[in-house]
Amino acid sequence: MARSAITIDLGAFRHNVRRLRRQLGGTQLWAVVKADAYGHGVRDCAIAAVEEGAAALCVATAGEGLELRGVLPDVRIIVLGPIEDDELASARAAGLELVVAERIPEGVRVHVKLDTGMGRWGLSELAGLPDEIVGVMTHLATADSDLAQARVQLERFLAATADLTGLDRHVANSAAVLTLPESHLDAARPGIALYGLSPFGGDPADHGLRPVLSWTSELAAVRLLAPGQSTGYGRRFIAVVETWIGIVPIGYADGFRRDLTGTTVLVSGEPAQVVGAISMDAFAVKLDRPAGVGETVTLVGPGVPLEAHARVADTITYELASRIDSGPARARRSVVDDAAS
Ligand SMILES: *Cc1c(COP(=O)(O)O)cnc(C)c1O
Repeated sequence: MARSAITIDLGAFRHNVRRLRRQLGGTQLWAVVKADAYGHGVRDCAIAAVEEGAAALCVATAGEGLELRGVLPDVRIIVLGPIEDDELASARAAGLELVVAERIPEGVRVHVKLDTGMGRWGLSELAGLPDEIVGVMTHLATADSDLAQARVQLERFLAATADLTGLDRHVANSAAVLTLPESHLDAARPGIALYGLSPFGGDPADHGLRPVLSWTSELAAVRLLAPGQSTGYGRRFIAVVETWIGIVPIGYADGFRRDLTGTTVLVSGEPAQVVGAISMDAFAVKLDRPAGVGETVTLVGPGVPLEAHARVADTITYELASRIDSGPARARRSVVDDAAS
């Protein structure tokens, strides 16, 4: 049986790339595929992004960049995060471009990061730029929550880079691509929206985006709890009246986080609440009928958006998606690619 089936809808992914490219007009789209494409599978997503016109790919680490270079020998790959000194030679040999926030290494194309308000890393001013510099960038802290503050950061960036020519200036993440057109500049770096997830935590359809990942399992056991009986560790759910319970063989080790108790999944298409403690490899749902073993449980998909789970767990879809384990030891991952959709 399929303890966990993860389906990646590359047709939806392609649609999202095209949707964002339309929004960007003449600005290049650089697809952010860090963290295994936010848990969606970097190989499939990176190839599809390039096929749909992404001009570059962005990753977080040198290791991710090297892996991607093995898949796509000729595409621009930009490493957004800091790299170690001992990774420099291999990054250079692989033709990776690096984002630098302090010392500028030799012999490798770099993008200089300006700190205009994110307060993590970045130079506070630009001075004496060497020839290796191909881009200058900043990252917005509040494009999804406070556009006025994002505009302050953008203005600082524009003022600091006004005299530079022949470089790629890039600022926009997904939220800024969708809502801050003046931030588009030469290139934009959307991530989450490519996967059909809302950077604002709302309904992706509001922005014409289609979710890419769906996740299903099956009822592995069904039992009737008598009043006073409980399910799971710590007796965190105790039946008050006779209650049907279904056991789903998925847990926090699969990425179904422990604080998703109380969220809703679908059992044969009908909503069912997750009850009791989520354990490493299983959780329980409350049923309103004696459902059968083997009935489909939809964890993420139409009617159960990742955004709803994120609200229950008080987190963001970025974290939930990037933690779903689609490796062969725990899940059967499949890709559907309806290029015409
Ligand atoms: C992750 C990341 C992005 C993409 O952000 P989204 O909100 O997923 O669009 C863009 N730029 C940098 C520097 C990042 O680290």
